[in-house]
Amino acid sequence: MNGIGWYGALVALEFGLAVVTVVALLWIKAPYGRYQRRGWGPTVSGRVGWVVMESPAVVVFTAVFLSGAHRAQLVPLVLLGLWLCHYVYRAFVYPVLMRPGSRMPLLIVALAMAFNVLNATVNAWWVAEVGGYADSWLRDPRFLAGAALFLAGLVVHARSDRTLRLLRSPGETGYRIPYGGGFRWVSSPNYAGEIVQWFGWALATWSPAGLAFAVYTTANLAPRAIDHHAWYRERFPDYPPDRRALVPHLL
Ligand code: NDP
Repeated sequence: MNGIGWYGALVALEFGLAVVTVVALLWIKAPYGRYQRRGWGPTVSGRVGWVVMESPAVVVFTAVFLSGAHRAQLVPLVLLGLWLCHYVYRAFVYPVLMRPGSRMPLLIVALAMAFNVLNATVNAWWVAEVGGYADSWLRDPRFLAGAALFLAGLVVHARSDRTLRLLRSPGETGYRIPYGGGFRWVSSPNYAGEIVQWFGWALATWSPAGLAFAVYTTANLAPRAIDHHAWYRERFPDYPPDRRALVPHLL
């Protein structure tokens, strides 16, 4: 198989993983956070887990990007900037800000890490090697709309992460009903923002790799958002009745 053949196979693998993930999550709640339970092997601190599983998205993306033929061109550099905005936050800022004390199974960390290596590789290789963008791409409506969606999604999910973090005082581990911002409409605006963000990336890069990641993110987070919504409704009799799981007024 030539280079493009291998590349296409890796992107197809990512679409395949999205299907496997959504089917698995219809049966099994990913065992971290409120669904953490025995029987999933050794655990590590949540902070360490987030850094270890998300940092390959920074390191691998940057390394693959730097080996691409178009690494010094304007559009790839702008796309690198967008990617790093998200992943420096997710891999290094989010874990430092999160409340200490949580744990997650090593298995989750290993699976997420492997996914991030695959995903960072196919996206960086597209951006710096396969995509072949002219500078005029920065004026293309697909780039402009995609970048706007990306940044709007990033703001929504980072703000929602903050709202959730502030629900607990230091040392507290329980759960409360979140209010304000995107929580006025849905139970998981953090997930909604993240999904919008990666569809924005798919549009801004106009790439199969970007689309594969957006589809995978939806496959991973939509079932969890539905589970979170049902979980809140079961535990909080005063849970806002008009709030939906993930999509305002619809789902
Ligand atoms: P959750 O919403 O399950 O939890 C986020 C944090 O907020 C956790 O520390 C959690 O504590 C705390 N929290 C949640 N709800 C409450 C509440 N009602 N009261 C008090 N504290 C609460 O998100 P995830 O941990 O699943 O994900 C974190 C981020 O990572 C999200 O922004 C998500 O979009 C992103 N992500 C992206 C993925 C992708 O495929 N691109 C995959 C997974 C996550 P605790 O841990 O104790 O429950």
